[in-house]
Amino acid sequence: MHSIGTNRGPWIEHRSSDHIARFNQQKNRHRYCRKGFPESPIHKIYAGHSKPFGIGSPARACENLNRPIMIQKFDAVILGAGAAGLLCAIEAGKRGRHVVVLERSERAGKKILISGGGRCNFTNFYCRPENFLSANPHFAKSALARYTPADFIALIENNHIPYHEKTLGQLFCDRSAQDVVNMLEAECAAAGVIIVPNTIVREVSRTTEFVARTDSAEYHSQALVVATGGLSIPKMGATAFGYELARQFGLKICEPRPALVPLVLGEKDRTEYCDLTGVSAEVIVTTNGSPSSSSPPSQAFREKMLITHRGLSGPAILQISSYWSKGGTILIDLAPERDVTAPIREAGVRNMAAARSAFQEILPKRLASRWLDLHAPSAWNNQALAELERLAHKWIIEPASTEGYEKAEVTAGGLDSDELSSKTMESRKVPGLFFIGEVVDVTGHLGGFNFQWAWSSGAAAGRSL
Ligand SMILES: Cc1cc2nc3c(=O)[nH]c(=O)nc-3n(C[C@H](O)[C@H](O)[C@H](O)COP(=O)(O)OP(=O)(O)OC[C@H]3O[C@@H](n4cnc5c(N)ncnc54)[C@H](O)[C@@H]3O)c2cc1C
Repeated sequence: MHSIGTNRGPWIEHRSSDHIARFNQQKNRHRYCRKGFPESPIHKIYAGHSKPFGIGSPARACENLNRPIMIQKFDAVILGAGAAGLLCAIEAGKRGRHVVVLERSERAGKKILISGGGRCNFTNFYCRPENFLSANPHFAKSALARYTPADFIALIENNHIPYHEKTLGQLFCDRSAQDVVNMLEAECAAAGVIIVPNTIVREVSRTTEFVARTDSAEYHSQALVVATGGLSIPKMGATAFGYELARQFGLKICEPRPALVPLVLGEKDRTEYCDLTGVSAEVIVTTNGSPSSSSPPSQAFREKMLITHRGLSGPAILQISSYWSKGGTILIDLAPERDVTAPIREAGVRNMAAARSAFQEILPKRLASRWLDLHAPSAWNNQALAELERLAHKWIIEPASTEGYEKAEVTAGGLDSDELSSKTMESRKVPGLFFIGEVVDVTGHLGGFNFQWAWSSGAAAGRSL
């Protein structure tokens, strides 16, 4: 297949003989698919791959047969104008690469706009590899070390964006997340990057170069960067595109799952606690531990927990949700570093009233009363109070499920990092194919770490395009 087009030249309307042949093949595919023959002639054009990649129906492909096809050639085509795609484009553009970013939504950076409650928690002062989950915990280290929070803060400061530290090193815009999107768009423009919104890539193939096809155009390039994000917030247009593309090229995927997501309680716990919707408390929540286990829990987060109408949320729960899997339990310390039963032991009269007042010193009143009613000690002797103390620090909950991708801040899992160079994010098996951001099996804790991964992995790829 040959391509026509000049660097930075205008779009070219093009209907070559091989296009006509290809569209005839597409027609065949449509016909064959409808007749139930999955192996159609179209497979032949996907060099080295057994299956074509296509999003959208064959019928749609046929609908477009008569439209003119625009072809343009770039050094790199980036799929997805989110945080990772835009940073990657800036870095590549600054190095003189001719880059286009294709975005299915009507505008770039939509998720950035809703992030951090509209103020975008764009990084974290204390970013360490330990703040990330991945099947390979070492994978993110190189990229994170070579594009650090300080690098992104410098970009923010050079663009005169006011920001502040909220808590635990989390940096937010003073004004709005729009500042970050404006900055990224301006940096793209300065670096000569072209962003094309409202562009759904239907399929990608690779012959001597990558070809990304939309309904009306073909984008040819030696390098293709997949920055299409994860599955969270489908109503914002999240799709499985990146995973499907990886599979098309024979790359492994670590099963995606919702992360940083509220947990849904089982029916009994829901009945017992969920009328307390809105009540919150600072707790330490852990997972992978059990009261009978002598091994330390793998993760612990000390932050706020919030009771919702279906279960538990708040930063502590969102954090632990990334480590929870169905059938597992979480342990909640309702009184971190407090000897909650000391006042009961010292009280003149040891009874429920003394216990209530002791617990209400530490927890919101309604939660204290409810929890005590459901965990009332069998007696008021020291042994029973010691057991009550133990339970208050290890309240075991077995969630029924999560609230799913609709409410998940990120998708854990994704492209298996073993498939990529940790320095460049380029596929080891498919030269020229890069994966960055959330589509990769690297998931940050809550607190600006996911954006830092998007910036760091984007920079790693952008600097090697
Ligand atoms: C409500 C919410 C709040 C958040 N707040 C924070 C926060 O404050 N701090 C933080 O660190 N993280 C936060 N996150 C997580 C953070 O937004 C993501 O980790 C980050 O945006 C991932 O960047 P990305 O570029 O990999 O993917 P995305 O930002 O999801 O971008 C992917 C882009 O690819 C486009 N796309 C998908 N398929 C195609 C296709 N076939 N063709 C063309 N384009 C395509 C999508 O439309 C999208 O624009 C938040 C997430 C949510 C949902």
